Amino acid sequence: MPLTGGLLRAACRTVAASLLAMPALAQLPDAKPPASGPAARLPLVAPLLPAPLSTAPVERPGPACNMQQIPMFNAAMVEARTRLAAAVRLVRAQPEHPHIRQWFGNAPHQLVLGRLQRTATRLANTAGVDIHCNDPGRCSAGVGAYAVNLSRTLLDAQGRPAVTYRVHEGQVLGVCPPFFRARMDGTGTRWGILIHEAAHFAVDGQDHAYGRAASLALARENGTRAAENADNYKYFVETLPQL
Ligand SMILES: [Zn+2]
Repeated sequence: MPLTGGLLRAACRTVAASLLAMPALAQLPDAKPPASGPAARLPLVAPLLPAPLSTAPVERPGPACNMQQIPMFNAAMVEARTRLAAAVRLVRAQPEHPHIRQWFGNAPHQLVLGRLQRTATRLANTAGVDIHCNDPGRCSAGVGAYAVNLSRTLLDAQGRPAVTYRVHEGQVLGVCPPFFRARMDGTGTRWGILIHEAAHFAVDGQDHAYGRAASLALARENGTRAAENADNYKYFVETLPQL
């Protein structure tokens, strides 16, 4: 079944993970400078051999992404980049377009434009982002995707936590079985899910509201909060009018 906007209500978690608490996440990928050209950016996920199981390939547990999941993830990423670029063009060219007011209310269009651009930049390359597929530890019921910001905690002389800080570019983007069941058109798309998670990373996007109706209501009631809400960015791009 296609994933609907309603199902996305519980489809995202944003968490901060401590490198001390989660040593498995301490192995950050090497942050290489982005290569130029769209072809040079791929593959986004390195192929890893899955464990043989009887379940459908895209349902198999990870966190390594298997050969069936990788092309689905990559296609969604390419589409997310294309659609985000179109959204940035619309806000830049037509700052008074009613579509902006529909999804972001009275938030200043420059604010919306800046946040869309930062979200697009975050998705432009995956340096510093570890991609996980179907991690059984995080893909609990209803979770379609999640965004994890890694942090490091320094201990004092007595071994007590003294200070915690974000690890620059240390992030995990995880997708779960509902992501692989989502469609590539309409709303609640695979690429829309990636835009939602990228908004968490790029602009510290919040989950004030989930779903189409709640996101529209948020825009009407509080543009500032709508401009913070990850799902508003997802729906803004998914329902972008043709220019
Ligand atoms: Zn979210």
